[in-house]
Amino acid sequence: MLDFTRYVAIGSDFAQLPFAEASKGPTINPPKIQVENVDFWYGDAHALKSIKLEILSREVTAFIGPSGCGKSTLLKCLNRMQDDVREHEMTGRILLDGEDIHSPEIDPPMLRARFGWVAQKPNPFPWTVYENIAYAPQIHGKVQGRAQTDEHVENCLRRAGLWDEMKDRLGEAGTDLSGGQQQRLCIARALSLEPEVLLMDEPCGSLDPVSTATIEDLIRELTGEIAIVIITHNMEQAARVAQRTAFFKLGEMLEVGDTKPMFQDPQSEDCRSYLQGQFG
Ligand code: ADP
Ligand code: MG
Repeated sequence: MLDFTRYVAIGSDFAQLPFAEASKGPTINPPKIQVENVDFWYGDAHALKSIKLEILSREVTAFIGPSGCGKSTLLKCLNRMQDDVREHEMTGRILLDGEDIHSPEIDPPMLRARFGWVAQKPNPFPWTVYENIAYAPQIHGKVQGRAQTDEHVENCLRRAGLWDEMKDRLGEAGTDLSGGQQQRLCIARALSLEPEVLLMDEPCGSLDPVSTATIEDLIRELTGEIAIVIITHNMEQAARVAQRTAFFKLGEMLEVGDTKPMFQDPQSEDCRSYLQGQFG
């Protein structure tokens, strides 16, 4: 049963939040990704149920909801990372720029290269800072020669807010950096192929507040340029960075819409109590 007194108090907290600004650029913002009636099973376990969702081109979309509700599963369906899972089945369609990502013309490695991926736990390659970023662009022929690669590495580190700290440490092992630096390195790596979509699965889950703030700044900077999907358990973070939010529970997406109206007046009882729990 909803405790309305508590909700009113909580509602006023949400009124204080600095909600994310609308994205820059033209007002028409076409869908980058369309998720059409997607169901997903791990063996017999039904992890996603009839998901219908659009991810817009130049905005940040937050996925929120209790642990185990399918947020990461859906995120990994978007770039076909789930292909590697044993005994899975997916039905429905996912379109990227209107094209079915499972159509035979799509080459999965080329598809994945259009996405940047940031995991909860920083996972740099056991190589130097420089190599962490240079590797993918070199393999994909995006950069040629030392000068061009140097410039690209610098740009990616700058965008991730890491250049000043790293410019004299490019030859050090990525795994020797602090946790926050490692995560920013992983973000620099995720940006190294100039992705059209950036997928982040609780990117600040293990970070201190300063590193978290740097990452939120970066997300705001990229807003309006590319589509970003971020899974977060931090509702204030969702409010700060995401124009749109989708709420999941037990494999279903119960609510999606602009973050501010959703947080201030959620439509479903489940979403309301989840948001309350986060603030209570
Ligand atoms: P969330 O990210 O919202 O916490 P997940 O997408 O990770 O949720 O998980 C959704 C459900 O699928 C959970 O019940 C989880 O235990 C199950 N699950 C996730 N990954 C696997 C896997 N590789 N194999 C089997 N079950 C999985
Ligand atoms: Mg998860």
